[in-house]
Amino acid sequence: MAYDVIVIGGGPSGLMACIAAAEQGASVLLVDKGDKLGRKLGISGGGRCNVTNNKELDELVKHIPGNGRFLYSAFNTFSNRDIIAFFEGLGIKLKEEDRGRMFPVSDRAKTVVDALVGKVRALGVEFKTNAPVARVLYDGGHVSGVKLKSGAVLESRCVVIATGGKSVPHTGSTGDGYAWAEEAGHTVTELYPTEVPITSGDDFVRSRELQGLSLRDITLSVWNPKGKRIVEHEGDMIFTHFGVSGPAALRCSQFVVKALKAAGSGGTVRLTVDLFPDKSVEDVRVETLRLAEAEPKKAVKNVLKGLLPERMIPVLLRKAGLAEDVTFANIPKQPWAELAELIKAFPIEAKGTLSIEEAFVTGGGVYLKEVDPKTMESKLMPGLFFCGEVLDIHGYTGGYNITAAFTTGYNAGKSAAETAAWARG
Ligand SMILES: Cc1cc2nc3c(=O)[nH]c(=O)nc-3n(C[C@H](O)[C@H](O)[C@H](O)COP(=O)(O)OP(=O)(O)OC[C@H]3O[C@@H](n4cnc5c(N)ncnc54)[C@H](O)[C@@H]3O)c2cc1C
Repeated sequence: MAYDVIVIGGGPSGLMACIAAAEQGASVLLVDKGDKLGRKLGISGGGRCNVTNNKELDELVKHIPGNGRFLYSAFNTFSNRDIIAFFEGLGIKLKEEDRGRMFPVSDRAKTVVDALVGKVRALGVEFKTNAPVARVLYDGGHVSGVKLKSGAVLESRCVVIATGGKSVPHTGSTGDGYAWAEEAGHTVTELYPTEVPITSGDDFVRSRELQGLSLRDITLSVWNPKGKRIVEHEGDMIFTHFGVSGPAALRCSQFVVKALKAAGSGGTVRLTVDLFPDKSVEDVRVETLRLAEAEPKKAVKNVLKGLLPERMIPVLLRKAGLAEDVTFANIPKQPWAELAELIKAFPIEAKGTLSIEEAFVTGGGVYLKEVDPKTMESKLMPGLFFCGEVLDIHGYTGGYNITAAFTTGYNAGKSAAETAAWARG
């Protein structure tokens, strides 16, 4: 028997595609190579599953720097507000946290995964787990089904590729979908890591003296070689044994990847950390000087403890050329001004990032000009649909990628069912 729709991949995009297709009355088969569905969804948002983000549509799109504008049509049919209503309709209460991030009230990703899988089952979608797909089959310029690694051939009128990116492969996302897109004639744009920790060979990184130090509410900037700011992001960051991570660093990472590529092999990219985004360099200079003046006999390294993260003080003083035991009476003017500059723009030379496999999200993917933004259908191969991270779309962490997965999944599933119904006659 030929299915109307076969969905390959049971992540958020594939599960939503199954739901939307089955709601249209299509016969749907979901195949996944893993033994469990929604594995990556289950570890997203620190295991609490950041299901979507409650921002207005334009803001949402701005937070999807990898081709977010492509999603306007898809959001018309199924937006972040529809995602929230969808889960509440399943009895999953959501709560809003900082920056519009939406989580289940249970704080457990399992609640979300179980609700999605439960809905897929309730709609009568057939499942095949532990069933890796080897190929999508094309016949006479149209999709005809899929071939499993076991050799079994499953026929269908439409196929939805929802195989995700290449990041965190133990969740099942190993990038299998790209080759099937290419076989259909699609371009796959260059893949690269995004939302990924940044590496640095700076002395304070190599010495590990800042490892584990978290900075709150800083601004991290990425600079080009001409000294022009490429991007800045506010938030928290953490020093690691290889460089920097945390939300601000992850958001900057894709710009670092691109700038490093432009710089060529062996090049580095300058980042700066502003420890006090709301103060000017002069404010900082005056404030630090006042602190020293208030306790003139104390060494500045101790005076500054109330203001700066303690472990950063020796590094800052060293970079400014100040002795740790200098006191107010003998503070040299120029290095003190330099110290204020460093507090406002602590430099980090980025030399790379962790790998695409270690990234949270894969940048690049199926070229969007070859995909219909309303239906997610291939413009090159009738009956072939794409959704989720396999597409050349990526957002910041904060629920944006999952939102993109749900909206493209919904549109792909619904359109695939409609196309199959039309083909059935
Ligand atoms: C640790 C972590 C935290 C994250 N946190 C956030 C966050 O807070 N906010 C956010 O927006 N995004 C977050 N993301 C990203 C988000 O989880 C992904 O963008 C999203 O899961 C992509 O959904 P998808 O449906 O496209 O693919 P995936 O979730 O990757 O699912 C793909 C599915 O396809 C299956 N598959 C692959 N190849 C085959 C094959 N050959 N045959 C059969 N099945 C196959 C896989 O087994 C898998 O089940 C996070 C990612 C990670 C790794």
